[in-house]
Amino acid sequence: MFAYGEKVLLIDAKKRRYLFTLKTDGEFHTHSGFLSHSEVVGSQEGSVLRSTKGAEFIVLRPTLEDFVIQMPRGAQVIYPKDLAPICMMADIYPGAKVFESGLGSGALSMTMLRYGAIIDGYEIREDFANRAQTNVREFLGADSLSRYRVSVKDVYAGIDEVGFDRMVLDLPEPWQVVPHAEKSLRRGAILVAYSPSITQAVKTRETLGEGWLDHRTLEVLHRTWHIEGTSVRPDHRMVAHTGFLTSARFVGN
Ligand code: SAH
Repeated sequence: MFAYGEKVLLIDAKKRRYLFTLKTDGEFHTHSGFLSHSEVVGSQEGSVLRSTKGAEFIVLRPTLEDFVIQMPRGAQVIYPKDLAPICMMADIYPGAKVFESGLGSGALSMTMLRYGAIIDGYEIREDFANRAQTNVREFLGADSLSRYRVSVKDVYAGIDEVGFDRMVLDLPEPWQVVPHAEKSLRRGAILVAYSPSITQAVKTRETLGEGWLDHRTLEVLHRTWHIEGTSVRPDHRMVAHTGFLTSARFVGN
């Protein structure tokens, strides 16, 4: 059953998705009437509720993917298509000590926290640092903030902490962080950098000198399919590009 304070996802007949938090006396308004939050509270996932004008909505709990796509954002977020592969390439596991920079809107942070990471994050803009923490708290709850230590700092100037198992970067110039990574990562650690432009990936790769093994750069392409009766084919549109993922393993210098 849903309770006040929880997030809910409503899907209408045209498959449009609406995400909001259930509040006492809250109302969800659309062009086809409204629905009071109290009707959602007490219902179960998969129930169909009707607005005052008879429009039908299916109620579900939002997934991490739903939240990342709909959450408030300052900076550009990394999309689910890349979030999961980043966690696999970086081998994020429960209890992993991860260094992350920049934090932006916190999409990557909340994904790694959900995989069980303990994150130290540097973000140069205070408003984004706050936004990231708010988004993490909204989706994962206040308890998760104990595994999310955020500092408003310029990562190009250095990293104060040491002993990280993993480092994940989403910054304009990740190569500037490589010398700092060599001081703050433990031997056997993994670095992953997400970069929209291939020249950024190349420059990062060129900076990973001796002491780094297993270099890889890849991009993830998702091609969804239209499956309806006898019409079974790729969808006409796809996202052609988001970013390149570069990873390497640190073995000491
Ligand atoms: N991965 C994030 C988006 C990060 S956008 C997400 O999924 O939501 C890139 C971020 O890097 C921006 O917030 C920007 O302010 C921050 N940034 C840029 N240069 C920085 C620096 N030198 N040190 C710390 N953060 C930096």
